[in-house]
Amino acid sequence: MGKRIAVVISQGQSQNPKKRQLEEDLVTKLMFEAGLDVTVIPHLYDLKPDGTGILALRGIKGDFVICSWLYDRAARWILDRAGVEGHEGTSLLESSADEDEEFEEELGEDDKDRVIESRDLPARKIYCLDLRSHDSVRPYVDEIQRIAKEATVSTVDLMGWIQGSPTENQLQQYLNEPATESGVQTEQAQTPGSPDQNESQVVRVEEQSGRRWYPVIDYSRCTNCMECIDFCLFGVYGVDKVDTILVEQPDNCRKGCPACSRVCPENAIIFPQHKTPAIAGAADLAASLKIDLSKLFGAPEEGKSAVDMAVLERDEQLQLAGRDVVGDSVGLAKNAEGDAAQPKDKLDNLLDELDSFDL
Ligand code: SF4
Ligand code: SF4
Repeated sequence: MGKRIAVVISQGQSQNPKKRQLEEDLVTKLMFEAGLDVTVIPHLYDLKPDGTGILALRGIKGDFVICSWLYDRAARWILDRAGVEGHEGTSLLESSADEDEEFEEELGEDDKDRVIESRDLPARKIYCLDLRSHDSVRPYVDEIQRIAKEATVSTVDLMGWIQGSPTENQLQQYLNEPATESGVQTEQAQTPGSPDQNESQVVRVEEQSGRRWYPVIDYSRCTNCMECIDFCLFGVYGVDKVDTILVEQPDNCRKGCPACSRVCPENAIIFPQHKTPAIAGAADLAASLKIDLSKLFGAPEEGKSAVDMAVLERDEQLQLAGRDVVGDSVGLAKNAEGDAAQPKDKLDNLLDELDSFDL
């Protein structure tokens, strides 16, 4: 097979006609680009752990691009938790977060050990493009073309996952059914004047899945401090065989509650569907450098810290589950005032430095 690159389009959760139009326009444009294999999946975050969508993603070998209605960072770490690993590919797509990258790097510079440093990631890049960045398809197509030229490890056997990459049981489940029941449909477009290997293919994965709600860990920030596992009283977190934190029972998480993201000292916990950008995975502490950190993390009431909010939210969920509230008596031992203030100290120092420039 020639040099090809896969492009995955993760559909929006709703049937919003504008979103669907953008997705379909993008598919149509990409079908006529040589050397691309396009896979359309339901919303990435909602995919079932052992469903067809995840199988399709795991079957992609080499560099790939994913376009989703999610912050880039959220998309990357959702993929990672699904076992679709790789290095972060740098997108040049302009987005509103770009201006914050410089500060983001500054804030991220310290000597803490991050979990990602102990991970052995496959030698490929995953490029995440946020479909909310632009209203028209042109910028996405241009960026995908640029990435396709840049990609070096881009041999993709599009149908590899159907032909053997998934486990045998999973595979049988899909192959013994007609295409529509298996949740996979393919379309092909012959690029005019191109040889066969440049045919573009579109695979559409259909999967019935409801909306999900669970935390996603950004291991490039996580220091494995275990604050989250101590704080969560719903059994969502666990550890792997080398004692690294993981989201073990995602569906135990309480819908709509982002409490543990507020107590994570590294802002490493993402709830991709939360309305507050810092919790949903925007790559910015810096986006709101001029406001109080507790507001950045969505604390709505004056005078309440992010940890105060987390305690209230956890109690609310305990009550809804018919359990006793615990206030701040459980799971905050290590998250003392000093720890909670750390990111703010850093932020304050940065603001002091900026002020010294007399901008
Ligand atoms: S609280 Fe944050 S940094 Fe600590 S283990 Fe959990 S995700 Fe990682
Ligand atoms: S949001 Fe609440 S229930 Fe969900 S993982 Fe965090 S602490 Fe646990």
